[in-house]
Amino acid sequence: MIGRILDLFWPRNCEICARPVDRPARHICADCLNRIPFVPVDGLCRCCGRAVEGLAGDYLCEDCRLPSTRPAFDGAASAVRFEAEARRMVLDYKFNRHFQLKEDFADWLEAVARSRFDVTAVDAVLGMPITEVHRIDRGYNQSDYLARELARRIERLYLARALVRTGSPRRQAGLAERERRENVAGTFEVVQPRRVRGRTLLLVDDVMTTGATLSEAARSLKKCGAWRVWCVTLARSLRD
Ligand SMILES: [Zn+2]
Ligand SMILES: [Zn+2]
Repeated sequence: MIGRILDLFWPRNCEICARPVDRPARHICADCLNRIPFVPVDGLCRCCGRAVEGLAGDYLCEDCRLPSTRPAFDGAASAVRFEAEARRMVLDYKFNRHFQLKEDFADWLEAVARSRFDVTAVDAVLGMPITEVHRIDRGYNQSDYLARELARRIERLYLARALVRTGSPRRQAGLAERERRENVAGTFEVVQPRRVRGRTLLLVDDVMTTGATLSEAARSLKKCGAWRVWCVTLARSLRD
């Protein structure tokens, strides 16, 4: 009801085509939603969620099989490919305060989390932390907002500030996979490890590229006793 009254005064226009949106609280119209490049649910590595050409069914990619490159998380899944309008919206949400996209993005995260993981086994949901410098500069952490909304939808506990980012590494963009791993090593710290001990955690982030940052975050959580770490991201980029 309140939503309907608000719509009369502030009609919601589609973030992509600018036409009015009739889906409640959403900012992407049904037509544009149909053109979003969603990641297929099947045919992906069951750990990192990457598609490997020529492989189908239930498989582990080479990186996830080898102990030297195996990620520390137990699974990672992304909703859309980081390209075109999907890319622009994720960046606008992250840097330009397009918070009105929260419900649409939570739809994507909820769908991918439910299709790839047993959400009833999740004990708590947490957002990928950003450094204090970035948080003060930006005034918010976009992944925390998404994590909180996802936790509410799947009816799981939301863990605030369980994991913090201590270092301020170089930007990951432009680095090779191995450099990315070294760049983020040791930059996470778990606050009150008892809150993660023995738990299955769902870690939420905006974009996954090689997965080095998610893996490092998972490594820190597991060092403090987390049992399983699953990751969901809005988008997946092959390279940035
Ligand atoms: Zn539209
Ligand atoms: Zn893999």
